[in-house]
Amino acid sequence: MSIYNEHQQEIADKIDDNVKTSKWKNWKWQMQHVVKTPEQCENLLGISFDDEEKRNLTKTISKFPASVTPYYLSLIDKNDYKNDPVFKQSFPSIEELHVCENEMSDPLAEEKDSPAPGITHRYPDRVLFTISNTCAMYCRHCTRKRKVGDEDYIPNKGMIKTGIKYIRDTPQIRDVLLSGGDPLMLSDEYLDWILTEIKSIPHVEVVRIGTRIPVVLPYRVTDDLIAVLKKHKPLWINTHFNHPREITTSSREALDKLSDAGIPLGNQSVLLAGINDCPRIMKALVHLLVQNRVRPYYMYQCDLSEGLTHFRTPVGKGIEIIESLIGHTSGFAVPTYVIDAPGGGGKIPVMPNYLISWSTNKVVLRNYEGVIATYKEPDSYTPVFCDRNCSKCDLQLNLKGADEYLSTGIADLLSDAEEIISLVPKENERFDRRTEIGSE
Ligand SMILES: *Cc1c(COP(=O)(O)O)cnc(C)c1O
Repeated sequence: MSIYNEHQQEIADKIDDNVKTSKWKNWKWQMQHVVKTPEQCENLLGISFDDEEKRNLTKTISKFPASVTPYYLSLIDKNDYKNDPVFKQSFPSIEELHVCENEMSDPLAEEKDSPAPGITHRYPDRVLFTISNTCAMYCRHCTRKRKVGDEDYIPNKGMIKTGIKYIRDTPQIRDVLLSGGDPLMLSDEYLDWILTEIKSIPHVEVVRIGTRIPVVLPYRVTDDLIAVLKKHKPLWINTHFNHPREITTSSREALDKLSDAGIPLGNQSVLLAGINDCPRIMKALVHLLVQNRVRPYYMYQCDLSEGLTHFRTPVGKGIEIIESLIGHTSGFAVPTYVIDAPGGGGKIPVMPNYLISWSTNKVVLRNYEGVIATYKEPDSYTPVFCDRNCSKCDLQLNLKGADEYLSTGIADLLSDAEEIISLVPKENERFDRRTEIGSE
């Protein structure tokens, strides 16, 4: 009996004796047979690289290793592998070795904003916690290439305990985002322990897992894993589909199991040149995602990590894609396009402009069709002076022990309660001159 199709059966038969569906669908078997070399790839797909291709692949892989599950490999169209979105995400181009001037090994400054090992605390109320340094498949566009496969970064139990202690000692943290590497590469027992520890912290309201497992190793989503995840609600999962071709019978089954377990699913795509930088491909992808109960969450501009130049598109390509989605399809199928600001500024949303002009009582807007519309603002609106004294306010918010002091940035400028009237860059020369004069 063939697994799902002849192509997969052919690959399976080359790897191991007597591969039945149950073996192919065993995630440990898949991990035992990850493809790491150009020769294995040639053999399994039945293709042959020319000499130069092979030299380039070997050279690149010696610096940044490759690792592809037989399942993910089986999605490659061997007749056009050079343009194949799965091949391009899993086997390197020699261009990865070209580091451009403005590229960095840690463009998001995750190490600088790290108060404890594995923790990046950038936003007031939530942290990123990298609890695994390995993945089922090494994405060529990985933003944390510096960590993947690096022995120094294996988070041991002691490091994880230190991270959990930081979360426990920091009451502002209400949302913990587990990432890696891939958290679902950990064993069920270990994951259960980490989730139990984090969930025992009273101020942690939600936990999220970022994982590419449903895309590259859907068989990891076993009934046992589901039983563990189900114990720790509310738990959200964000996955990482980049191309419609990645939605298969197997990945659908994995997504179904997660959804049926009551886990809300989101998707974070990365905009990648030559893979998904096309409004029609992105539209097909988001439609398939929502059909499978996955909400498109973010579409990322490709980071400034080293060796990713060949994957980057102009920002205009992302805006063009968003333009092709908003209004043209279901609102919940449209992801937020974000640029994760180099230097640690965090995710910044970018959008086409819809607000065209504005007077004191009217705004002019344009819709997705190019229709220009006006919205008449109320003639009378009595602004409520807000001094953050909610107990005296008519709006029945009644913030109990509110997190008001966390108000920051532009939101502060808009607030009545703050005395700040401007934000000034730290090393502003003009302001330096002012203090000099003032101190004379
Ligand atoms: C992306 C990210 C988060 C989560 O951001 P959301 O916009 O809430 O999804 C938190 N911390 C860090 C460091 C991140 O990069």
